Parts: sequence; C-alpha cells; structure tokens
Amino acid sequence: MPRTSPSLYRPRGVVSWAADLIWPPRSLLSEAIVDRPGAIEPGLWSELRFLDAPWCGRCGFPLPSDEGLDAVCAACAARAPAYDTARAALAYDDHARRLVLDLKRGGRRDGLGVFARWMASAGREALARADFLAPAPMHWTRLAVRSFNQAAWLAQELSRSAGKPWRPGALVRVKRRKSQAGLSASERRRNVGGAIRASARFEGKIIVVVDDVFTTGATLEACARALRKAGAAEVHGLTLARVVRPTDILS
Ligand SMILES: [Zn+2]
Repeated sequence: MPRTSPSLYRPRGVVSWAADLIWPPRSLLSEAIVDRPGAIEPGLWSELRFLDAPWCGRCGFPLPSDEGLDAVCAACAARAPAYDTARAALAYDDHARRLVLDLKRGGRRDGLGVFARWMASAGREALARADFLAPAPMHWTRLAVRSFNQAAWLAQELSRSAGKPWRPGALVRVKRRKSQAGLSASERRRNVGGAIRASARFEGKIIVVVDDVFTTGATLEACARALRKAGAAEVHGLTLARVVRPTDILS
C-alpha cells in the first residue's frame, strides 16, 4: 500500500466545525447528513462496485478468472494500447456517475480525500514506481469557462496521499476537442489524436496520468503517445471510475 499522508487525517479546524453547523456534511451519494465530509452511508457504500484483480494486465478490464499478471482482454490482445497499464477504483455505474458529475460539473470537493485513497489502492503498483503524476489536460478555453480541471484536483490529492510529486503542466491540450459523448472508440481516438502534447522532455520517466473516468481509453491513449514521444519510459493511467461494458471484450 502507498504511504498515506498524515495530512489527510489532521484534526479538523474551528472553521470546518463552524461551517458544519451551518451546512452539515451530506453523503456523497444522497442528501443524508453524515458525520464527516466525504462519507457515504453504509447502505449505499455497500452498493459501490470497486474494481480489483483479476483484470486485464493492460487496460484493467475485469476478467472472469485469474490467469496471472500477463493476462489481457480481447481488446488489448487485438490492439495493444500505447499506455502500459490503466487502473480505476470504481466501475462507472449510476453511483460512480453521480460522484463524477458532482465533482466535474458541480465542483464538489468534499469527496476528493476518499477518492484519492480508493485510487491509491487501485493503482498501487504504478504509483510505487512513478516519478510523478500528471493530470489529463483540459483546453484553456474550457478551463476558462469551468475554472477548474477535476483531473488536476484528483492528481493533487493523490499526490498528497501517495507521497509522489505531481506536475500540473506536464501535458497540454493544444486543440479543443469536440464533446466525446456518443462517439465510438475509434471516433474518440480520432477526436483526441494529436490534441495532447507534452510540455517538456521526460526522458526515462515513469508517469501516472490521472483522470476522472476511463471511457474507451482514447484520452489516456493520446496522453501516453505524447509522453512516449517526449521520452517517457512508462505511462500508466489511473482514474476514479471506468466504463465496464461486456461489449468492450469484443470490440
Ligand atoms: Zn485490456
């Protein structure tokens, strides 16, 4: 397990307690009042679908049986990804969707600490080897509208939790992409291809790219190509959630 920063467990300050009197902490998955920010009531907690081995040694897709670390899914066997491994904490179902949308559209930050702990566990092997973490980049025009990049929030929190540095500017998006919604895997690859560049040389570095959701892997693929071109030795992806569809095995 990665080293966990004691700062995550620091006693809560007077300001935080005072804020709770006005806005008591709510569950990340419902309107229920909980004892601390970032908590989830047990009934809904037990419904979260955490991902773990056995999974594809490359993309992290759940596999039906444990066939060893080198086992890969049919999609990766047909077309090896540019990244070394991809891991995610949760399957992207209705609960995970709510967590992700509250983070990315609502700018809700009280789950970041717990998300980082889940992600640190799912990506422990890659994090142990990593030189630094790099958030998946957002185009500046989108950043100007939204004012934050949720991937950067996750990378920053994970950096504290895993005790590894993070480099927010390592990857840049040079082309604003169209929305990925409704696009197939190959359309997504085309949409995002060439849109992401590395901002410097990263000769021999082992880099973990952090994002909120792995959908088809097109964004991670583009990040990995850019970082490899910049000299990276290994590129791993780590996300809060991952789309898991049976058709992924066949596509
Ligand atoms: Zn795979």
